[in-house]
Amino acid sequence: MKELEERIRRDGIIKDGGVLKVDAFLNHQCDVELFDAMGAEWAQRFKGVPVNKILTIEASGIGIACVAARHFGNVPVVFAKKAQSINLDGEQYATSIYSFTKQREFPVIVGKRFLGPNDHVLILDDFLANGKALEGLLEICELAGAQVQGIGIAIEKAFQGGGDRLRARGYRVESLARVGSMDAGAGTIEFLPA
Ligand code: 5GP
Repeated sequence: MKELEERIRRDGIIKDGGVLKVDAFLNHQCDVELFDAMGAEWAQRFKGVPVNKILTIEASGIGIACVAARHFGNVPVVFAKKAQSINLDGEQYATSIYSFTKQREFPVIVGKRFLGPNDHVLILDDFLANGKALEGLLEICELAGAQVQGIGIAIEKAFQGGGDRLRARGYRVESLARVGSMDAGAGTIEFLPA
């Protein structure tokens, strides 16, 4: 998606260690108009695919998923929680994942009331790097007996291999921008066809 690639080139900051900072428009300050265009693009790519629920993970996935839901007939958005809380009552599906950015293990929790065998799920998230976050969400869907119809990602860091591992497992992964390489020193970023 050209618009997203251009925005990354303009406002993204390439950090050491393969980290791309996009907090000016994606995961701290949010450009809702861009989110809307991203939602429209996913709706176009997943046209004809039955989706009755969008699943994401807190925190950065939530805004993107809620705006995208407007393009999928206002289906409910469920976000997995990364911490236990007294507000999380009832039975839960739970697993744990290793976070690339926080460099530690996190729980991934979804209340059983909000996901089940009748659900046709589109998973959306901001980044796909090693694929750990996605693996956690896929495991939650498996535990729930929900059918995963596809995965939509804003920015795939293709050089970390998570996307290709998920495609090899048979999942349809639609990334709107695929970063092939980036160089913090030179400040350069290359995109792959997406
Ligand atoms: P994965 O589990 O695929 O390795 O990483 C996915 C999660 O880590 C995303 O949900 C995102 O929050 C975070 N993440 C991974 N790489 C980056 C990055 O380069 N920049 C930012 N801002 N977040 C990232």
